[in-house]
Amino acid sequence: MKFKVDENGFYGQFGGAYVPEILYKCVHDLQEAYLPIIESEDFKKEYRHLLRDYVGRPSPLYFAKRMSERYNCQLYLKREDLNHTGAHKINNTIGQILMAKKMGKTRIIAETGAGQHGVATATVCALMNMHCEIFMGATDVERQHTNVERMRMLGAQVHPVTTGNMTLSDACSQAIRDWCCHPADTFYIVGSTMGPHPYPDIVARMQSVISEEIKQQLLEKTGRDYPDCLVACIGGGSNAAGTIYHYVDDERVRIVLAEAGGHGIDTDYTAATIHCGTEGILHGSRTLVMQTDDGQIKEAFTISAGLDYPGIGPMHAHMALAHRTEVMAVNDDEAIRAGYELTRMEGIIPAIESAHAVAALSRLHFTPDQVVVLTVSGRGDKDVQTYLNNKDKAGEYGDF
Ligand SMILES: *Cc1c(COP(=O)(O)O)cnc(C)c1O
Repeated sequence: MKFKVDENGFYGQFGGAYVPEILYKCVHDLQEAYLPIIESEDFKKEYRHLLRDYVGRPSPLYFAKRMSERYNCQLYLKREDLNHTGAHKINNTIGQILMAKKMGKTRIIAETGAGQHGVATATVCALMNMHCEIFMGATDVERQHTNVERMRMLGAQVHPVTTGNMTLSDACSQAIRDWCCHPADTFYIVGSTMGPHPYPDIVARMQSVISEEIKQQLLEKTGRDYPDCLVACIGGGSNAAGTIYHYVDDERVRIVLAEAGGHGIDTDYTAATIHCGTEGILHGSRTLVMQTDDGQIKEAFTISAGLDYPGIGPMHAHMALAHRTEVMAVNDDEAIRAGYELTRMEGIIPAIESAHAVAALSRLHFTPDQVVVLTVSGRGDKDVQTYLNNKDKAGEYGDF
């Protein structure tokens, strides 16, 4: 249990709940309420039911034959891309909206970057007939217009945020400000394993269904319930947390995470927080943060809007520093190439976020009998234009 949250809300030296006075009661109430709710039969029943019939779980564990041959291993893909709304994010929003209902909240807010978490939140709000307001950086509102239209169509109000760099980090700050103004009736659905305790633990638990299913599916397919290696991409850390949750204390399992290197970790254009960050406090949590010497948050840069965050979930900061996880910085051009490769080798167009995980394979060495599970966190429909604009980086696959 040394990598799970402790009773004070910390993962080693990281985590905690650094919130303004006005939110103290709100956050404290949630800390008291979340475990009893998650462990109640009522919650479990409704959560399981919706994951199965609404989201479409269990998501398949697919043996990727051609990619296995290429990378000299037994490669299985955990297909979160096949979920309703196209990514793993919905596992978490379903859980949190049920929690909000149980706590008697009537108004939902959320932050979003690329818009995937915003869409997943607007979706469950439509489902549950709840009032929904989404904060999104004005830059992202322009870049991700289709997702903005989806959220509006689902009935959500989208607020463009015009402070700072007008991207994800600013949207988070604005959501926290809104929460400060409406602490009594509002539930903030956080989209990744970030924010003040208990959010990182809530989100990790909601996503842990991914590794719960991997265990069972591997047992059925290989006769053994653990892989030799797990691979996932990491932005704030939710799909990674879900992928590794039931294996973190199992030392037989190697864990490789791919963060977004952008143009490279030795440039100013990167989102590789674990490589480049230093200890600080961001959005209510002590963690690794990309910041200047005097503590100003630096803008994250990556081709992948979903990995565009200058912080990292505290559990991942802790695990990386303890060398439980191996974190690689994968650059934009490597991710693009890997996205094309998976498309042509297996007929699966991955989200560019997920393509970062695929790119990590080429840096790893396996033996043919080793079992590797890689989580495809989302589908690439939203990224087709970006892939096409970067066809020159597709190598042998760009000739069309
Ligand atoms: C949001 C997103 C991510 C990054 O978020 P995590 O919390 O690190 O999982 C990765 N992949 C997809 C498809 C996403 O939408």
